[in-house]
Amino acid sequence: MINGSKMWITNATQADWMCLLANTSEGDVHRNKSLICVPLRENGKLRPGITMNKIKKVGMWASDTAQVFFDDVRVPVRNRIGEEGKGFTYQMRQFQEERLSGATRRVTALNNVIDETIAYTRERKAFGRSILDNQSVHFRLAELRTEVEMLRSAIYRAAQVHMAGGDMTELASMCKLKAGRLCREVTDSCLQYWGGMGFTWENKVSRAWRDLRLISIGGGADEIMLTIICKHMGTLPKRAA
Ligand SMILES: Cc1cc2nc3c(=O)[nH]c(=O)nc-3n(C[C@H](O)[C@H](O)[C@H](O)COP(=O)(O)OP(=O)(O)OC[C@H]3O[C@@H](n4cnc5c(N)ncnc54)[C@H](O)[C@@H]3O)c2cc1C
Repeated sequence: MINGSKMWITNATQADWMCLLANTSEGDVHRNKSLICVPLRENGKLRPGITMNKIKKVGMWASDTAQVFFDDVRVPVRNRIGEEGKGFTYQMRQFQEERLSGATRRVTALNNVIDETIAYTRERKAFGRSILDNQSVHFRLAELRTEVEMLRSAIYRAAQVHMAGGDMTELASMCKLKAGRLCREVTDSCLQYWGGMGFTWENKVSRAWRDLRLISIGGGADEIMLTIICKHMGTLPKRAA
C-alpha cells in the first residue's frame, strides 16, 4: 500500500508506470528503501488513489513535470525491483549513469548555442561592423568553446572508466558539476551578445538559457556534486562524511 506524494516527476502526465523509491521499513535511511514499479494507468485513466498536478516551469517545456499523489495505492510485492532495503544503493548506482548522460547531452546543446551566436553576431552590424568582429566577442566565444571541449574530454574519461568496470562516481559528479556551470556561463555570455534580441522569448539562445539552467539543479544539485567530490577527496567534516 502506497501513501504520500512525489514532487518533480518528469513525464508523469504521460507515463504508464513509474519507478518509485519508497520507504518500506523503519530504521537507517540508507537501508529502509526499496525500488517499486508502480503502474499509473488502467485503460488510459489514472488508477484509483493516484492524482497529479502539472507544474509550470521556467523552461524545459518539451517535457512535462508533475507532483504525483498516492492515496492507498496497492501494488503486488512482485513489482519490487531487486531486494527489499537495497533501493537506495540501486538508486545511487543509477545516478552515476544519469549524471554522466546529463553532462553528455549538454555538449552538443552548448556548442549549438555558440554556433548560433557566431551566426547571429556575424550578421548583426553595429557601429559599422559585425558584433563578432570585436575581439572581446570572438575571444570570449573561443574561450567558451575551449571549456566545452574540456568537458567533452572529461566525459570520455569517465565513460572509459565506467566501460572498464571501474567506479566513475567522482568523475561523473565532476562532469555533471562542470556541465551545470557551463550551461549557465555559456548561455548567459551568448545571450549578452544577442543584445535586445537575446531578451525576447522566441529565439534559440534565450530558450537554451531557460532550459539548460535545470542541469545545475536536477539529478542532484551542484552542491550535492561538490559534496560527493569532497567525500572522495577526504575533505568532508567527520560527521557529514
Ligand atoms: C524540471 C524538473 C524535473 C525533475 N524530474 C525528476 C524526476 O523525474 N524524478 C525525480 O526523482 N526527481 C526529479 N526532479 C527532482 C530533482 O532531482 C531535485 O529538484 C533536485 O535533486 C534538487 O532537490 P530539491 O528540489 O529537493 O532541492 P533542495 O533539496 O530543497 O535544495 C535546494 C537547494 O539547496 C542547496 N543545497 C541542497 N543540499 C545542500 C547541501 N547539502 N549543501 C549545500 N547546499 C545544498 C542547493 O543549491 C539546492 O539546489 C526534477 C526536478 C526538476 C526541477
